[in-house]
Amino acid sequence: MPTPLIEDPLFEELIHPTAAIERLGGDCVWAEGPAWIPSQQAVIWSDIPNNRIMRWTEEGGVEVDRTDVEFTNGRTLDLEGRLVVCSHGHRRIERAEPDGTITSLATHYQGARLNSPNDVVVKSDGSIWFTDPPYGILSDREGHAAESELPGCYVFRLEPESRALAVATDLLVHPNGLAFSVDESILYISDTSGSIDPAGNHHIMAFDVEGGRSLTNPRVFAEVSPGLADGFRVDRTDHVFTSAEDGIHVLTPEGRRIGKISLPEVTSNCVFGGPEGNDLFITASTSLYRVRTKTTGASRPLP
Ligand code: MG
Repeated sequence: MPTPLIEDPLFEELIHPTAAIERLGGDCVWAEGPAWIPSQQAVIWSDIPNNRIMRWTEEGGVEVDRTDVEFTNGRTLDLEGRLVVCSHGHRRIERAEPDGTITSLATHYQGARLNSPNDVVVKSDGSIWFTDPPYGILSDREGHAAESELPGCYVFRLEPESRALAVATDLLVHPNGLAFSVDESILYISDTSGSIDPAGNHHIMAFDVEGGRSLTNPRVFAEVSPGLADGFRVDRTDHVFTSAEDGIHVLTPEGRRIGKISLPEVTSNCVFGGPEGNDLFITASTSLYRVRTKTTGASRPLP
C-alpha cells in the first residue's frame, strides 16, 4: 500500500509517514467535486462524463447516488448545511433544499449565460464564491457544447438572498479550484488554462480579501507541477492540500511544497471529513481515496 512522500519534516506534523492511502472504490471516468456530508457521514462527488453523482459511506461503500444530473461538478455546504452545487449542464449555481427540490441561484451575468461553474466555496458571511471556466461547454463530454456568452472566465461572488452577482476577479484565464484561508483574509484560486494551452497556467494565485468582499494584491502563490491544481482545500493550520497530476501536494502558507500524497491516477480534488474530520478524501480519475491525517479542514464558526 502506498504511503505519503515526506519532502520536509514539517509534513510529518500533518500526516503520519506510514499513513495508509486507501482506494475506497469507484468506476468513474472523471471523479471531481467531493463534499463531506456530516449528517449522513458520507462523501458525495461527481463523475462528470458519466453524468452522475456518486456516494460513499463506511457501511455502504461506493454507490451511485443519482444519474442524469446535468453534469454537476464542485459542491460545498452552506451555513445551513444545504449543498451548493456547480452545474455544467444547466450552466448555473444551484442549491439542494431539505425537501429535495433544487433552487437555481445564478444563471446569468449582465444578461449573458455563465460558462460552466466549476468549483464553489461559501464564506462565513453566507456569500457564495465560484469559478466559471469553459470546461463544460467546450464539448459534450462534461456538459453541452456551446459558445461562451461572456468575454472571459471570471470568479464570481453571489449573495444568495438577493441573488446579486458580482465579478470578484477577471485576472485568471481559466479559474478553477478555490478556497479561503482559515481567517478568510486570503482567497486562493487556481488557474488551469495549461490544461488546453501548452503556454497556459498551472498555478494557484492568492488574493487579499478586503472588507470581506474585495480581492486585492494578486500574486502567484505556487506553481503546481506535474499537472494542475484542479481543486484544493485549506486545513486548520493554513496548509493548502492541492490536487496535481501525481496526487495531492501539500503547501505551506508561504506556498512551499513539503510533501505529497502520491496516487497512481491523475488527481482532481479533495475534502476533509470522516467521524473526526481528519480523513482526507481524494477524487482521482476513476477512484475515491482516503488517507488519515493529523489535521482537519479549516472549519469556520457560524456567524
Ligand atoms: Mg475543478
